[in-house]
Amino acid sequence: MKIVADLQIHSRFARACSKDLSFETLEKYAKIKGTTLLGTGDFQHPIWNKEIKANLKEDENGILWSKTGFPFLWQTEVSLMYSQGGKGRRIHNLIFSPNQDVSDQITEALGKKGRLDYDGRPIFGFSCIELVEMMNSISDKIEIIPAHCMTPWFGLFGSKTGFDSIKECFQEKAKYIHAVETGLSADPGMMRRLSFLDNIQLVSFSDAHSYWPWRLGREVTVFDVKKLSYDEILKAIKTGEGLSETIEVDPSYGKYHVDGHRLCGINLDPKESKKIGEICPKCKKKLTIGVLSRIEQLADRPEGYKAKNAPGFKSVIPLSEIISFTIGTPNPASRKVWEIYHKLIEKFGSEFNVLADAKPEDMTQAVDKQISENIIRIRNGQVKILPGFDGIYGVPVFKPEDEEKLNLLRMKSAEKEKSQIGEEEKNTTKTKQEKTTTKNKKPTLGQKGLLDFAKKN
Ligand SMILES: [Zn+2]
Ligand SMILES: [Zn+2]
Repeated sequence: MKIVADLQIHSRFARACSKDLSFETLEKYAKIKGTTLLGTGDFQHPIWNKEIKANLKEDENGILWSKTGFPFLWQTEVSLMYSQGGKGRRIHNLIFSPNQDVSDQITEALGKKGRLDYDGRPIFGFSCIELVEMMNSISDKIEIIPAHCMTPWFGLFGSKTGFDSIKECFQEKAKYIHAVETGLSADPGMMRRLSFLDNIQLVSFSDAHSYWPWRLGREVTVFDVKKLSYDEILKAIKTGEGLSETIEVDPSYGKYHVDGHRLCGINLDPKESKKIGEICPKCKKKLTIGVLSRIEQLADRPEGYKAKNAPGFKSVIPLSEIISFTIGTPNPASRKVWEIYHKLIEKFGSEFNVLADAKPEDMTQAVDKQISENIIRIRNGQVKILPGFDGIYGVPVFKPEDEEKLNLLRMKSAEKEKSQIGEEEKNTTKTKQEKTTTKNKKPTLGQKGLLDFAKKN
């Protein structure tokens, strides 16, 4: 059976997450998107954990079911900040658990290392090696997957605080790492240029901080398994058997694709930035080196290399954004965009059906010809995307004459997003439930230091 899985989700208790995130909203938009399995996200968070247990019911296969029959899988993400090899490291890892009993043991073990209630994605000061040791001592069915592995700040191979190989990071525990999550700014085509990943599976998930369809499920992994069980999904992740393909956003759309400085408005492709010594021509500081440059540094195979027998992948961008950029509004949440979006969902059943399969002549029965044309152009990789850099998303350029205008617009909306996230953070920490449980409790001193460090960057 085909399973379209987004297994990197956050709860509303994680930093910068929508405060309306609930199992209801997640399920609703997962179905609209065409996603058929979600991670629970943040299962060690005390309030979210209670909500998991109250809303979802676990079956004998380790799958959690909502009251209306939508499946979830035990999943969380931790941020590790520590020193190794004389360098500060910051690595995000996903943790998958086979059942409630094991999830409770993981929560207990993490709770001994620091507070769990101040952030759905807590920060710890121990290493990736220790994380593997800790999880192995609980159950050999726990799976650890480095998240958004190429991202400069928190990726396993990131330019700022990452490593050059799995072995360098995990050392003798490297054999327990079977897969990496590629993140938005990279796709399997880029990753397979790194031969040290030949026996490693590549998965893609959304890292959704909200349930909106331009966030949730924007990247997914498609499994083809005998039945929906934790063991079957785990087997596919470990061996590739049953891992059919990934649906990716175009890597240029990701927030860290090329090199640049957000505040200086500078973005450069790897060749250009290398020429000027990776120094920003405006502020003269080191540029934030993006995923494309990092691939060039680590790759031992040429661009365009095609891996044999590797699962395929599709490149899309969220439908809401195809619509919004076609009709000339930068806001995917605007009413006009929703109207068109719903017409397509009504006709084709889900967003993935529209993006991957819908025929142009069928689409034009529901929406404008320009919308259907642009969906097809994105599907065929015929649209230029202004690449993302230093935290700013890439944008599709459907009409060449719009390029300059779009670039200005995205710089502006990036500024706005930054202040919105600040607001959301304030609101999240102010929710009533959180207030009562976290009253008079501050993160431990070590965690607070790490938290401040994280905020600064
Ligand atoms: Zn992360
Ligand atoms: Zn600069």
